[in-house]
Amino acid sequence: MNSNKKITLIIFTMVSLLTVIIVALVALGSRQSGYDSAKKRAYLTAEIVKKSLTAHMVNGNMDQRDVFLNSIEQLQELNDLWIVRSPSVSEQFGKAQLANEMPRDDIDKRVLQSGKEELEIKESLKAATLRITIPYTASALDKPNCLTCHDAKEGEVLGAISLKFDIQDDRISSIAILLNIIAIVVVFLIFILIFISRKIKPYTSSFDSITEVLKQVHEGNYSIRAKEGTLKEDKEASMWLNEIIEKLETVLTGIEKNLTAFVHNRSTNVNNDKLLTAKEIIEDISEIYNYKKTIETDLSKEDIYYRLVQVFKDKLKVEQFYIFENDLIKDERTTIYSTKESKACCSLIKNVKEQCRAERTDTVVSSENFPEICRAASCESCKDYVCIPFSINEQKSITVHILCENKECLKHIRYQIGIIKKYLEETKPIMESRMLMDVLRERNLVDGLTGLYNRKYLDDFIDKKMPLELEQGTTYAVMFLDIDYFKMINDTYGHDAGDAILQKLSKTMKDAIGHDEFIIRFGGEEFLIIMKNPTEESALTLATKINHDFGKLVFTFNNESFSKTVSIGYAFLPSDTDQIWKCIKFADLCLYEAKATGRNKVIRFRKDLLKNGDKAEY
Ligand code: GH3
Ligand code: MG
Ligand code: MG
Repeated sequence: MNSNKKITLIIFTMVSLLTVIIVALVALGSRQSGYDSAKKRAYLTAEIVKKSLTAHMVNGNMDQRDVFLNSIEQLQELNDLWIVRSPSVSEQFGKAQLANEMPRDDIDKRVLQSGKEELEIKESLKAATLRITIPYTASALDKPNCLTCHDAKEGEVLGAISLKFDIQDDRISSIAILLNIIAIVVVFLIFILIFISRKIKPYTSSFDSITEVLKQVHEGNYSIRAKEGTLKEDKEASMWLNEIIEKLETVLTGIEKNLTAFVHNRSTNVNNDKLLTAKEIIEDISEIYNYKKTIETDLSKEDIYYRLVQVFKDKLKVEQFYIFENDLIKDERTTIYSTKESKACCSLIKNVKEQCRAERTDTVVSSENFPEICRAASCESCKDYVCIPFSINEQKSITVHILCENKECLKHIRYQIGIIKKYLEETKPIMESRMLMDVLRERNLVDGLTGLYNRKYLDDFIDKKMPLELEQGTTYAVMFLDIDYFKMINDTYGHDAGDAILQKLSKTMKDAIGHDEFIIRFGGEEFLIIMKNPTEESALTLATKINHDFGKLVFTFNNESFSKTVSIGYAFLPSDTDQIWKCIKFADLCLYEAKATGRNKVIRFRKDLLKNGDKAEY
């Protein structure tokens, strides 16, 4: 309901209420005054009748009283009049003989008995009468003294007079007054309503229009404008309001346009309100900025991945997801992060560039778009998945594999894809630089010819990792390897042939070792293998296997075919010594022993291999 209607209704109700109250009061008042005036007339008539009858009595012409009574009855508005004698008067003067001297009803009898006047009002739609019965009592104070003629006591009831008045006229005049009042009020009401519609309506309409506009703006509709009103104040108010809305619209559209491009706004915006959208975008930007600042100071690639996982879980509320890192050179995939409680729909490890649809097409792949959209993905339960590819550089890319169990989750992910991409984009340059650093560090630690770790790596391992592992109870075996008569190859077939043989031995060793072993090119054609948590058996098996496998290889240079052998010595840490460099030395001693005793051998460290000086130290 608009304000105009509301005000009109309030005024109408109030005036109507007031009218009802006034009418009721006037009606009651005029009814009462009608009765009062009728009663006054009754008393007057009663008094006249009394005085007249007394005069008749005193003058001795009581027998003519009926003429008087009949003439009184003729009075206007007096419908009826009759007189009743008390039993004592009847006894003294004889019973009444006239028709209008007989008691007519119980009221007459009661009044004679009690000496108290009684009143009876009869009202109907058409007529209204007031009947009153007034007692006449004996009094010595009356003039003439009643007691001189009546044989009665002071205060004794001598008779009563009953009168019936027509009070319909009083009623009609009251109704006329009421009708006048109502007519005045109605005219007044009409006048007020006209006044409201002329003078107040422009204000209320303008108020309503401004309220409606503000409501729309509050709901996010900034394209609405207030109508220009007819009043001066109204015009100004709507003009100012429109200016404010216009400014808001321009600013917010600008913010949305510029910032959306900046943060890859969420693909479907749930807010229709530009102000809320702007607030959300600014919050996103601030969080992305914080994220970027944090990862810039992170040391390793692992730290950056850790932050990314945190963002996915805590900020973007992605519940089940995997982060894969793809090596584009080797075309292999490693899992960086996986949500514990879910199993990935994708188990690709190799041929990622061809098999992974997201990677191949470089677009977001969602099972929502087409059933079994990615042939490489196979979900056990009827899960949905969304895969987001992201290229870091020519060597590496990331694939975010998100799992959804219901449509609600898919909707949420669809909404978050833009912002996920933005986080990945911000991660890219920093991740790239950390990966580059990793490559450089790796190169610094890897031997160029064989691709094996170099001595620097061994030094780092001994300084940093090994003490921690030793604390955790890790044990080691150190294996020293040297090709027999290697110098001869260089001398006979050239340096390249020597290099090729070094590479072959490297491959033989790589193929033979497991996850807990690594190889170091210790010197020219000397290698070390470090085994973690070995047993006597596993160390001997590995050394023997390398010795056999390498010995079986046939090399052909300058149309000459030949085989080479390798000698191996090994020792255990901490069972042979608790010092790593000593352990390496013991393995070297074994190697020396192998060389000295015919080569192409595997020798485990024994105490008797120590020279006297070494024995003392041991
Ligand atoms: P032994 O059985 O006693 O080990 O005999 P050997 O000939 O292997 O003797 P030695 O260990 O002294 O020979 C090592 C040779 O390895 C010397 C050096 O020219 C050669 N060498 C070292 N590094 C390289 C390399 O990177 N490439 C090639 N082709 N040869 C290398
Ligand atoms: Mg050597
Ligand atoms: Mg050698």
